[in-house]
Amino acid sequence: MKKILLEDHEIPKQWYNVLADLPSPLEPPLDPETKEPMNPEKLKALFPEALIEQEMSTERWIDIPPEVLDIYSIWRPTPLIRAVKLEEYLDTPAKIFYKFEGISPPGSHKPNTAVAQAYYNAKEGIKRLTTETGAGQWGSSLSFAGQYFGLEIMVYMVKVSYEQKPYRRILMETWGGKVVPSPSPYTNIGKKILEEDPDNPGSLGIAISEAIEDALSREDTHYSLGSVLNHVLLHQTIIGLEAKKQLAKIKHYPDVVIASAGGGSNFGGLALPFLIETFNGDSCTKFIAVEPASCPTLTQGKYEYDYGDVAGLTPLLKMHTLGHDFIPPSIHAGGLRYHGMSPIISKLKEEGFIDAVAVPQTAIFKAAVDFARTEGIVPAPESAHAVKVAIDEALKCRETGEPKVILFNLSGHGLLDLSAYQQYLEGKLKD
Ligand SMILES: *Cc1c(COP(=O)(O)O)cnc(C)c1O
Repeated sequence: MKKILLEDHEIPKQWYNVLADLPSPLEPPLDPETKEPMNPEKLKALFPEALIEQEMSTERWIDIPPEVLDIYSIWRPTPLIRAVKLEEYLDTPAKIFYKFEGISPPGSHKPNTAVAQAYYNAKEGIKRLTTETGAGQWGSSLSFAGQYFGLEIMVYMVKVSYEQKPYRRILMETWGGKVVPSPSPYTNIGKKILEEDPDNPGSLGIAISEAIEDALSREDTHYSLGSVLNHVLLHQTIIGLEAKKQLAKIKHYPDVVIASAGGGSNFGGLALPFLIETFNGDSCTKFIAVEPASCPTLTQGKYEYDYGDVAGLTPLLKMHTLGHDFIPPSIHAGGLRYHGMSPIISKLKEEGFIDAVAVPQTAIFKAAVDFARTEGIVPAPESAHAVKVAIDEALKCRETGEPKVILFNLSGHGLLDLSAYQQYLEGKLKD
């Protein structure tokens, strides 16, 4: 069987909250002004109460609201596919499975949390959400989600991407989102940066500062983040929970679980539900987070308190970080260019439950093209990081003869990233 599907009614009805099972609790977020543990009351200027509660909850299972399940049902459950053609091409005894999140309308896993965040904000009377986006995957997911709940979505898009990658901007506008290039003249931080350097290309850190400043300046507006935070990882566990059910249908359990990591929600979404057995001591599955060599947060970042943005407006989080003023080179996997990492994923790495590897982008695109020429799907450059390491693991099995079960997340398709493929195919891509 190549494709393992779930019936509509088999979609998980609860998210898995790993905070119930972490071997030691997370260090608390700190107030950016006082450096004392953050008072949750202060977060209410940015987030709805329901999400603040989820951020700190230690309930193991959290119900998915019917309104969210209703929107999920547009594209979920997503298929789990056995990469038979890739296995044959690699001549490996390994069984390679991938969860395909690219069938969502915005084309990635990101709407899993965008829909939930839009729902909880609208329910608490919020009319407008601000956010940042790099290449546009998150901004388009939030624009898509906002329209179902009558929310205006204001997206600060990193200026280089705004200029070089118009298609996701058009996608956001098609779903009713408002998009401005960041740094923008609409916020104090944006104005200040533009005065000093009118040609500043922008960064995620700057765009986050702008989106937060905007949200703090208006009563009817909240801020929404597409990765890193605990509640975002919580919403993404739908991926791993579905994959677990799908593998159970054919009586399989993964030996290796692989996903790319930018802020960590994609990796967490697939991996956390499988870590339950690891915490219980019932499995020795290997977990691998894959990041770009040019933004090696987990493999080379320091594990310490840092801000999530350039201006220092966000709470300080204990996480792996390259420094909040780090501006990564503009590689093609825009969704993985973030200086920080989810505190949950950082802790799991620190305590040895998961591994991380960093891979240069030419090797990533070679794997992406091999995948497209065997399995047919053109992966998003971010997702291709997982493809690359899945291939490496399968090749190790060819050496050892072990028929391991390898599971990875194909977090999105690459049909709006073809200019990167063009550069690769023309031999112009550099590491
Ligand atoms: C954003 C994105 C990622 C990275 O997700 P994080 O939660 O930031 O780690 C991976 N793949 C695709 C397709 C993305 O859009």
